Amino acid sequence: MALNTTLRQDSFITLRDTIRWRVALVLASLIVVVMITLGTINTKLGLTDTARLAWAVLAVASASVIVLLLTSRRLGGTIFFASIAAILLIVPIYGLEIDRNMQHWAYIFPPLLVFLLRPGPSLVAMVAYGIYVSWITALLLPPIEVVRFSSGYGLTVCFMYTYALLQEQAAKMLRYHSDHDALSNCLNRRTFNEALDRLASTRNGFQSCEFLLIDIDHFKAINDQNGHLVGDRIITQVAAELGRSLVADAPLFRYGGEEFAVMLVDADEGAGEALAERLRSAIEQGDFQGVKVTISVGVSRWRVGRGKVESALQKADEALYAAKRAGRNRIEVASA
Ligand code: GH3
Ligand code: MG
Ligand code: MG
Repeated sequence: MALNTTLRQDSFITLRDTIRWRVALVLASLIVVVMITLGTINTKLGLTDTARLAWAVLAVASASVIVLLLTSRRLGGTIFFASIAAILLIVPIYGLEIDRNMQHWAYIFPPLLVFLLRPGPSLVAMVAYGIYVSWITALLLPPIEVVRFSSGYGLTVCFMYTYALLQEQAAKMLRYHSDHDALSNCLNRRTFNEALDRLASTRNGFQSCEFLLIDIDHFKAINDQNGHLVGDRIITQVAAELGRSLVADAPLFRYGGEEFAVMLVDADEGAGEALAERLRSAIEQGDFQGVKVTISVGVSRWRVGRGKVESALQKADEALYAAKRAGRNRIEVASA
């Protein structure tokens, strides 16, 4: 299992699910109140068919409140919005059955879909639903009503789709900036810590991981001799050079100031050592515009059931210091 795939299930998704769950709970409670009101009014007016629909929706909404409180936040929100969408599919047909137009309920469909689907599929579903409701309206009402409905519904779809696109872009941008380091463009320490937690959690089924801790040699001297702006440029260039030498499923993290980390998940034993040597050699031969740059790398291996992930990381750190003591521009592998 690639670490990249599981990196997606982070705090951002948990937050989104929690918000969706809360919105669902508030909406379900609101629907309960609205349906009690509508059911009572319709009964008093003698509109038994519409009253019956209101009581049916009341029953579904009340059940939803209970289900939302009992199931996980992850599932609860999705189940709720999917059930409302299912009810909205039935409502127009029910209206046709009792010979009463119900197209005003269709306006709930577009904002609801934005909670459930990504912008592309939600647009397709909104348009298909609009055609379906227009067709039923045409069976019940004169053509001018179909024009009125489809214009209003069409505008709602345009606004909702634009909103969904903007929201998706904004979320993507926010997510990128919260995961990445601005100077080196590689993943930041926060993302590293989350990846470490995921590795340590047994339910993800990881078997092993090789840690590489990379540190630029004599970086303080590089700063002192060339200035901090050149130092910053070197950090960016080293990250780019390391990124080019890495395999696709091994993301590069900026671990600290001039320190980087790599996690090789479920790789063959010795893969970390080979990779470390490749990275060291790539930096030694790299072109840093007149500045001589080398790195030292500490490597360690964690295996499930053989100690904590954190102690394996600690071993990589000790190996890195051993490489520094042994003269720098070299790699050191921690003993098992
Ligand atoms: P060693 O070979 O033992 O690693 O020596 P070193 O000089 O690289 O190690 P040391 O930890 O003493 O110095 C790291 C320096 O990196 C200190 C700090 O000013 C600098 N540094 C950390 N982050 C940045 C940064 O973002 N930009 C620049 N220009 N310098 C940074
Ligand atoms: Mg350092
Ligand atoms: Mg250093």
